[in-house]
Formats: sequence, C-alpha cells, structure tokens
Amino acid sequence: RATRGGEEVRGYVPSMGQIFMRRFQMVTQFRQSLEDGQVSVHYQPKVSLPNRQVQGVEALVRWVHPEFGRIDPDEFVPAVEAAGLIGALTEFVLEEALHRVRKWLDDGLRISVAVNLSVRNLADEEFPRRVSQALERVGVPPELLTFELTESGVMSDPQKALPILRELHALGIVLAVDDFGTGYSSLAYLRQLPVDQVKIDKSFVLGMGTDLGDLAVVRSIVELGHSLGLTVVAEGVEEDVARDQLEAMGCDVAQGYLISRPLSEERLEAWLQARTAR
Ligand code: C2E
Ligand code: CA
Ligand code: CA
Ligand code: CA
Repeated sequence: RATRGGEEVRGYVPSMGQIFMRRFQMVTQFRQSLEDGQVSVHYQPKVSLPNRQVQGVEALVRWVHPEFGRIDPDEFVPAVEAAGLIGALTEFVLEEALHRVRKWLDDGLRISVAVNLSVRNLADEEFPRRVSQALERVGVPPELLTFELTESGVMSDPQKALPILRELHALGIVLAVDDFGTGYSSLAYLRQLPVDQVKIDKSFVLGMGTDLGDLAVVRSIVELGHSLGLTVVAEGVEEDVARDQLEAMGCDVAQGYLISRPLSEERLEAWLQARTAR
C-alpha cells in the first residue's frame, strides 16, 4: 500500500453530491459540448474472417470535457439518454459517420460504418425518415450503414421498436443485435426481428480461452446465427488464439484490440493506408 507521510493514500472516492453535480453538469452541458468540438467520433475496424480484410468500422463516441477530462461513454451515454438528449447524440454520430463513408467512397474505398442506437431512438417515429434524408443528402448507399441495437433496447417496448426497425430495414440499412447473449436472449424473438447480424458480447469472447462455458456460448451463437442466415460478428477479440478459434468455428467478422483499438479519424486513415499498402 502506498503511504505518504505515514498516511495511507486512498483511492479518490467522490461523494454522492459530487456524483450528482457531475451528472448534472454533463447533461446540462452536453448540447453545447457538441458545438464546442469536445465530442468526437472514433472508429474501430472490423475484419472479415478468414481473409482479414477490413469489412467495416464501428463508430464510438468520445467526450473530452474541459473539467472532467475524458468521460467514458458507459457513463455519459446513459446520462444523456435519461435526460432525453440521445436524439442529438445519435444525429451527431450519424452525421460524422456518414461523411466519413462518403469520403472513403470518394477515395475509392467501400467501407461500411456501424452506429450504436439507443432504446429512445427506437421510440422516435420520425427517426427513419431523418436517417433516410441524411443518407440521400450525404450520398451514402444504405447498405454501407449498420445500426447496432441491444436486445434489451428492442424488447423493452417491441410494439414501438418493431415498426421502426422494419422501416429502417426496408430502407436497406443493415441491422445488428449488439451484446448478444447477455440479455434475456429469446431465440424465438431473434427470428422475428428484421436483423442481419448478431454481435457476440465481448464478455464471452474474452472468457472463451479459459472458460469452457463461455466457449460453448460462443460456439452456439455462431451456429444459431448461421442457421438463421445471419452474419456473426465477435467483439472483444484480444488474442491470436481467440481469433483462430473463431475462424475455425466459422465466425464471419472479428473486432477487438487484436485488430485495432478505436482510432481517431486521422489515426484510422494512417491505419488503413498501412494495411492496404501491404
Ligand atoms: P459497445 O457498443 O458494446 O461497444 C464496444 C465497446 O468495447 C467499446 O467501448 C470498445 O472500445 C470496447 N472494445 C472494443 N474492442 C475491445 C477489446 O478487444 N477488449 C475490450 N475489453 N473492449 C473492447 P466504448 O467505446 O467505451 O463504448 C462503450 C459503450 O458505450 C458501447 O458499447 C455502447 O454501448 C456505448 N456507446 C459508444 N458510442 C456510442 C454512440 O455513439 N451511441 C450510443 N447510443 N452508445 C454508444
Ligand atoms: Ca456496439
Ligand atoms: Ca457490444
Ligand atoms: Ca456494451
């Protein structure tokens, strides 16, 4: 244990008041932070197995706050969501992501982008129309856009979510179920959803090297996904062994630190160039 002048140095533990204030500041400042350039989008590449070609990227939001520094999306996304501001966040990420894809198209590259949706997006009847307009305005074919949604997001209000999902799907946008295996994954429901992909939750992929139960879950999701005609994506691929096992199982796409961490726009460009130069 570290000591300073005989006194124990404890980890900083914020008080309830400080937690509340931080959350309050986050939600009241969020809109302005979008305009001030504090919020940006990073991209994590995904590769096809077995050929390891870049298949697409996932857009992941980043917020560097002037006072708090980097805030984890697992902290601010739920806060922004609860405050009813997720529409602005999704629109920001979508706009950035579509312009990125458009730029790649101009450079002769066909790379798709995946954007994470929140439950609240799936309760907004105007959402599909706005997405369709954005695709047209920026000039991106719908098949180069994927939306990732969690099962719990869809299942919390399927009556509302399903028609919106069907509309998005009818536009030609690719739909993926994120974090698959963590919720009350009803396999029967999966069949009824208009989805094209399942993403195996990283907890199973991270555990499959040491835990036979995790390995069994991964294997059965790959089989189930394929029997339903879905593309299977594994996230959280950190080790060669995991990638090799996934490849042997027939998993279609791998994403994780082994391939690359999420990268800023500039760093992603350099990463892509280094890869295609090989
Ligand atoms: P997610 O959608 O499940 O995203 C995957 C998370 O796993 C990302 O965390 C990514 O950086 C991390 N990750 C990727 N590869 C590995 C790996 O090999 N090992 C490990 N341990 N982790 C890996 P991140 O960027 O911190 O995002 C956390 C969550 O925040 C996301 O989970 C998603 O639920 C939410 N999020 C991020 N961006 C957005 C957004 O634009 N909109 C919405 N609605 N949610 C977002
Ligand atoms: Ca995701
Ligand atoms: Ca996930
Ligand atoms: Ca997650």
